[in-house]
Amino acid sequence: MAVFRIVNMGEDILREKAKCVAEITPNILKLLDNMADTLREAQGVGLAAPQIGVLKRVAIVHVGEDFIELINPEILEVKGEVRGVEGCLSVPGVQGEVVRGRYIRVRALDRTGAVQVYETEGLLARVFQHEIDHLDGVLFVDKASRLEKVET
Ligand code: ZN
Repeated sequence: MAVFRIVNMGEDILREKAKCVAEITPNILKLLDNMADTLREAQGVGLAAPQIGVLKRVAIVHVGEDFIELINPEILEVKGEVRGVEGCLSVPGVQGEVVRGRYIRVRALDRTGAVQVYETEGLLARVFQHEIDHLDGVLFVDKASRLEKVET
């Protein structure tokens, strides 16, 4: 397990579309473990594989007690809208307001290859949407209003 450098906005990989995981190999499990170490070290709430330089559809979310690993996540349903403040480990020192779905239903594989369906609301739903955007090369600043500098 290892802590990786987090890629910053301006580096090309953050703008590329990540590739689906065809098979859950030992390398994918290692990737998940490395992402968890990196996210803990950074004290963030979510991390997508492109943020550590790996162009695969893998993300992790760590909100409160929840620690969720998402492989090939897909948003199945979105209900309502809610505006909230976001930041990103790849865009240090910047916050902005982003409108996200209030409730979402997401399907993803877990590390055993089992299909999981998550129904989420609030902060958890926001983080899911933010991380899934990363897999499509989208950053929160693309959608944000009222961007402002904050101390890190
Ligand atoms: Zn981010």
